Amino acid sequence: MTTISVIIPVFNEEKNISSVYNRCVSVLDSIGESFELIFINDGSKDKTFQLVYQLSATDARVKYINLSRNFGHQIAVSAGLDACNGSYAVIIDADLQDPPELITSLYAKVKEGFDVVYAKRQLRKGETFFKSITAKFFYRLLKKITTINIPLDTGDFRIISRKVINVLKQMPEQQKFLRGQIAWVGFNQTAVEYQREERTAGTSGYTVKKMMRLAMDGITSFSNLPLRIATIAGFLVSGITFCVALYALYSRFISKDYVPGWTSIIISVLFIGGVQLITIGIIGEYISRISSNVRNRPLYVVSETNLDYSKFNEKSSQ
Ligand code: UDP
Ligand code: MG
Repeated sequence: MTTISVIIPVFNEEKNISSVYNRCVSVLDSIGESFELIFINDGSKDKTFQLVYQLSATDARVKYINLSRNFGHQIAVSAGLDACNGSYAVIIDADLQDPPELITSLYAKVKEGFDVVYAKRQLRKGETFFKSITAKFFYRLLKKITTINIPLDTGDFRIISRKVINVLKQMPEQQKFLRGQIAWVGFNQTAVEYQREERTAGTSGYTVKKMMRLAMDGITSFSNLPLRIATIAGFLVSGITFCVALYALYSRFISKDYVPGWTSIIISVLFIGGVQLITIGIIGEYISRISSNVRNRPLYVVSETNLDYSKFNEKSSQ
């Protein structure tokens, strides 16, 4: 029985493998629980996989998952979560921006009875101004438009309990936004603060394109607001139509100060605009319901009960 599974997605990290391995092993040895290090090679083009493979040959605690191509960080982590054996899983980056030494405090907190302990960064070192400003803006926006409470300024560096891992495995959605999903799962969650370091070697695998995709996945998986925009705009335009229509009728029939044809054109244009937006909004409402059904998440997650647990699992896995 493994206690701690450390999940390390790797994409072109040949320069970091040995240091991440050494630092993780020394921290975990000092904790003194059984552990496994799961490296998920996300289609690296360099020697990353060979290095991981060599480690696994000399250390049985090193496990590897070699993905067939680059699937992206979130999916690589999901593969690790699916396969891990631990009672707890730590998700950590391979570039040592997340200091493995913090695992000690994460584990201590989780032992106090929390199910999720996320590492909250106080400061982002060595990241471009662009990256930190867009990240800051994105998390604040996401907090405003979603109903679940995604903690600010956290990445995926965290420890989660087996309960949470099992719920995540029941969430088969294609668009993974793990920090949102973990917030959605609930249970007892808390934070430990740390300073985010600079990447030790290599370059970021998160291109602007991948960041944009993650941001869109986060928004579309946890908010229907974008679909509601048409409804909101529709009612707004209809309100304006009503006022302009009154004005147009006033100038046509009362003040008689008008250009022929203007009244009918402006009223019909605005009216059609309003009707179209509201109709698109209605379609959006249906699509949002379809998308939440297609996500196929469990409807709820039971924390404690004195009934038979398997009853709930039967139901939610149907
Ligand atoms: N990563 C991955 N697949 C990708 C991009 C990144 O598995 O397509 C891994 C990468 O090896 C690292 C972690 O995800 O362990 C975080 O990536 P990175 O440091 O490049 O992102 P940043 O810190 O710049 O946001
Ligand atoms: Mg990084």
